[in-house]
Amino acid sequence: MKTPYYLIDEQLLEKNLKILYTVKERTGCKILLAQKCFSMFSVYPLIAEYLDGTTASGLYEAKLGYEEMHKENHVFSTAYRDDEIEEIMNICDHVVFNSFNQWQKYQNLAKQTSTSCGIRINPECSTQIGHEIYDPCAKFSRMGVTLENFKEELLEGIEGLHFHTLCEQNSDDLITTIRAVEEKFGKYLGQMKWLNFGGGHHITRKDYDLEKLIKIINEIKEKYQVQVYLEPGEAVALNAGFLVSSVLDIIHNGMAIAIMDTSAACHMPDVLEMPYRPEIIDSALPNVKTYTYRLGGPTCLAGDIIGDYSFDQPLQVGQQLWFKDMAIYSMVKNNTFNGMNLPSIVLKQKEKLKIIKEFNYCDFKNRLS
Ligand SMILES: *Cc1c(COP(=O)(O)O)cnc(C)c1O
Repeated sequence: MKTPYYLIDEQLLEKNLKILYTVKERTGCKILLAQKCFSMFSVYPLIAEYLDGTTASGLYEAKLGYEEMHKENHVFSTAYRDDEIEEIMNICDHVVFNSFNQWQKYQNLAKQTSTSCGIRINPECSTQIGHEIYDPCAKFSRMGVTLENFKEELLEGIEGLHFHTLCEQNSDDLITTIRAVEEKFGKYLGQMKWLNFGGGHHITRKDYDLEKLIKIINEIKEKYQVQVYLEPGEAVALNAGFLVSSVLDIIHNGMAIAIMDTSAACHMPDVLEMPYRPEIIDSALPNVKTYTYRLGGPTCLAGDIIGDYSFDQPLQVGQQLWFKDMAIYSMVKNNTFNGMNLPSIVLKQKEKLKIIKEFNYCDFKNRLS
């Protein structure tokens, strides 16, 4: 198999889906796949066996969910466009607005369809420290309506509220957030049909406290008589995939540097954007094992560095390295900067490998003119 390629393991994906299914069974909540994290639609039939549908950030993702998942289809967009909203209303059963302006603008259109409409609220309760770009409750945030801007008099026709404030967090932070939601918006919850807790719940991570999650969902559901939704992205495909790449060259400049056939900037952009250091099978932090290398991509960007790693044996040109947890925010974010080809997409079904898609020069050229 030609590297680089994303290898998605169906069994690992299913392991996550089973955990999510337990949450549904024990609470009656509904769980949607947030497609912005993972849009590998060839496995949507498998996901559809366990989850209730998809959520989208706009028309294209909504179309993908509509065409490939065939279940509930939700959408939240920071602002809809006049030339897209009609199609969105036709294919989405739940549409969430980011402001009362947008709701007023499109409510007549919504009335002509059976779409259930909601408002995204901003509980102004930051529970994450460190990366502000992932905090919708940060100062001057554009995500969701704050209590100050909430227009009670415009709620007629609104059937749900939506909040999304977490990122890779545990259920204690969800509870903190829910208490803020109740404190600020509690008096409106009783008139809603549904309440969407957003994504960012790291439900399938080893140390995630499932019991706390189940308890709070059941509490809210009973207290306000609402249908609770969760829409995780990461938790669906967490640790379910790898990026397999090969060493192209080894050079030296103050330390040993391996040039890989995969790029942080193109194939795992969150490594630079988040930023974080992806794990590699059979490696350790620098200087823990005998041989330490800096791993870099083949692009011209000086900062296209994946990280520093140590190994028991010296790396060899041609050798494969397997980057872990590469199903999420990878395929959906990759790009062909510097004329880099996109990694192939491969599915592992039991012991069989199936090439789902390969890319070539046309994929690079088609986006340019
Ligand atoms: C990004 C996003 C999600 C999914 O978040 P994860 O961190 O991948 O679980 C869900 N809902 C909304 C509104 C989002 O923006």
